[in-house]
Amino acid sequence: MINSLQEENKLLRQKLQSLLDEARLNENKWRRLNLLEKQLIATRTLPDLIQAILQSYKSAYGIDIVTLVLTDPEYEITRTLEREKHGSSILSGLVVMEKLSTNSTLPFLGSFDTEHERAIFDPWPTGCCSMALLPLLHRGELIGSLNMASSDANRFTTDSSTDFLERLAAIFSICLENTLNNERLKLVGLTDHLTGVFNRRYFETRCNEEVANARRHHRPLACMFLDIDKFKRINDEHGHLTGDEVLRTVASLIQSQLRNIDVIARYGGEEFVVLLPRTALVQACDIAERIRATVAGHLIHAAPEKCLKITISIGVAMLPDKLPEDDATTSHKLLSSADGALYRAKENGRNRVVYEERKSLSDKIKSPSVMQ
Ligand code: GH3
Ligand code: MG
Ligand code: MG
Repeated sequence: MINSLQEENKLLRQKLQSLLDEARLNENKWRRLNLLEKQLIATRTLPDLIQAILQSYKSAYGIDIVTLVLTDPEYEITRTLEREKHGSSILSGLVVMEKLSTNSTLPFLGSFDTEHERAIFDPWPTGCCSMALLPLLHRGELIGSLNMASSDANRFTTDSSTDFLERLAAIFSICLENTLNNERLKLVGLTDHLTGVFNRRYFETRCNEEVANARRHHRPLACMFLDIDKFKRINDEHGHLTGDEVLRTVASLIQSQLRNIDVIARYGGEEFVVLLPRTALVQACDIAERIRATVAGHLIHAAPEKCLKITISIGVAMLPDKLPEDDATTSHKLLSSADGALYRAKENGRNRVVYEERKSLSDKIKSPSVMQ
């Protein structure tokens, strides 16, 4: 009798101990989640938020692989990451898709399904046996998934509890929307409301950064000043609303000829500026000439019976090789060289490209300075 009571007592103690251990583990887990949540909530930019979930979560919980899939049908995320100078590839573990391959809004925990999850886990996690796929929802709509893979087959099993992971996914979704809203607000302050391209304030900051980059890496940097010819006449003859439409069209025609890394801004009234990183003078003049020809060849349908032909003049300048001044002074000089070239394009008859005579040391090309 005493023996059986002692035995039962021992079993109860063991059971109590294992419950206490589990409670301690859970407490620890929730404490770490609390810390991670605070970190996610404190991030202000999209790259920081993505990095926090991919890196901090992985290291805090010792998970082998964490990836994040986000839908980006209007390229908002892609553009934001580029603006913050993070190509999506720099954030290793982030997969941006136009459309998701699933519409399931339920979490999945279980064994690793190799073929099915190829797109979700990139780079491919070799040696992983179990995984968790957590849908990210915004106002009930699926916007992506947070995915984990582990080499431990028991880490994520079909009978594991999901409240912890579901809560993490919900907090992350809210933070994502919050960060995107922050980025949208920031963008409003940096873009021109009429044409949608960057404004002068943004351009000036960006120009200093591009000058610093070009100097540091000894790469060429070209700058263009573009001005619509006789624009006042369009306003006078067709009204300001038509003038506005012309401005929007010209901005998008210029943009259509540029690469992702180029920067276009509305400098003021009917003037635009463009920065072409890693571009030598010959290429820059080619691009400018292409822009000029595209605008000149485009008919603007301002109203049903109003088809306008317009032209622009372009001044091109190169970042000089060795100037001792600081970046801000150098970018100011670069802009005024391009402006000087534009002035000569106007003087020489408009609808043409002119590049600065004061050439940079590395660009000793012999083509004429006035094109068209
Ligand atoms: P040029 O070939 O020498 O550049 O002649 P221009 O007529 O283009 O130059 P000017 O500087 O004389 O006129 C620019 C005009 O642009 C005057 C101004 O009313 C107009 N403008 C500036 N901002 C806007 C705008 O946001 N919308 C409209 N519709 N017009 C604008
Ligand atoms: Mg003008
Ligand atoms: Mg002007």
